[in-house]
Amino acid sequence: MMDFNLKPVASQPDQNSEKHVKVLILGTGPAGLSAALYAARADLNPVVLTGMELGGQVSLTYTVENYPGFPDGVSGTEMVELFQRQAEKFGAVVEYDTAIKADLSRKPFRIETYNTVYLADTLIVTTGATPRHLEIPGERELTGRGVSYCATCDGWFFKGKEVIVVGGGDSAVEEAIFLTRYADSVTIVHRRDELRAGPILQERAFDNPKIKFIWDSVLTEIVGEDAVRSIRLQNLRSGAIQEMRTDGVFIFIGHTPNTQLFEGQLTMDAAGYIITDKLMRTNIRGVFAAGEAADPVYRQVVTSAGMGAAAAIQANHYLDEIAGETSPSNVALKRQ
Ligand SMILES: Cc1cc2nc3c(=O)[nH]c(=O)nc-3n(C[C@H](O)[C@H](O)[C@H](O)COP(=O)(O)OP(=O)(O)OC[C@H]3O[C@@H](n4cnc5c(N)ncnc54)[C@H](O)[C@@H]3O)c2cc1C
Repeated sequence: MMDFNLKPVASQPDQNSEKHVKVLILGTGPAGLSAALYAARADLNPVVLTGMELGGQVSLTYTVENYPGFPDGVSGTEMVELFQRQAEKFGAVVEYDTAIKADLSRKPFRIETYNTVYLADTLIVTTGATPRHLEIPGERELTGRGVSYCATCDGWFFKGKEVIVVGGGDSAVEEAIFLTRYADSVTIVHRRDELRAGPILQERAFDNPKIKFIWDSVLTEIVGEDAVRSIRLQNLRSGAIQEMRTDGVFIFIGHTPNTQLFEGQLTMDAAGYIITDKLMRTNIRGVFAAGEAADPVYRQVVTSAGMGAAAAIQANHYLDEIAGETSPSNVALKRQ
């Protein structure tokens, strides 16, 4: 059984324990483990750091039904265990450690962790993103049991049911409209008295007979044991609290990419997502990024895994290129 609450083992890396690796991958979510599989099969002996969440976000979910190859679904935990086993089979080394400092101004790149200093010829950043949480009682306990952060992933489970959507921005309203394909009723709970979503989305939501609204209100608790049974709501104007029965709670109050470590070094958008080109290259040659750390759009296991594989293929090309640039015959040619 895997430990999902990994704690750093030592507080200071031993500066003498520098390890030189060809490929260092940060993160063991679907993107990191797919990158590890491809890099390992290219004989690059990748080292993969788990960070604090072995398996990444999907390990929190009860069942994944939209990853090809699993017609009967698979638990998130089992899926990432299989990803890891496959990467390790070809030689990837998974280390239970977290990157805490990065210096990308020098080559090899210098990545400091709690235990070690890695000198990496190429770096693949797959540190993912964290959905923002409401931080209320019941939320964490019922995640994957009726509490969800992804309508594409979990909408199907709510056929004929009643669900709550929390949020008022574009993604909340878009996901609420999407959920009406399955649910009999979708109630958007928003802390203000108007939506922040764009006007066309708003119009579509207001015209949809399955969507209802509760304004000026916040959730204070999600109630249930094995599954969501109800929510407690507080009206911010009157202070009144009410309980409401529901089958599911979808929370869309934003995502935070885990990219703070690279601020000022890698080019990012305003929200902190790393900007890459189609070859998963960042602004620094030899540094690649994949999965949700670089993807504010798709946010799926299959797309993250695909980007991870692409990043590893490009990392391999990059290593071939620099080997060519530094081969004795090329160096001699350049000197002429
Ligand atoms: C509850 C839930 C259910 C979901 N269900 C589905 C579903 O059914 N189907 C689907 O397609 N998608 C689903 N998703 C979305 C899917 O999980 C993500 O799209 C996917 O996990 C993104 O993969 P990733 O590898 O980019 O990042 P993540 O999964 O976020 O993994 C990031 C990894 O980076 C590591 N990390 C972070 N910082 C550091 C650091 N400093 N040093 C080293 N490592 C670091 C973390 O520990 C983690 O291992 C779900 C998401 C959630 C939250």
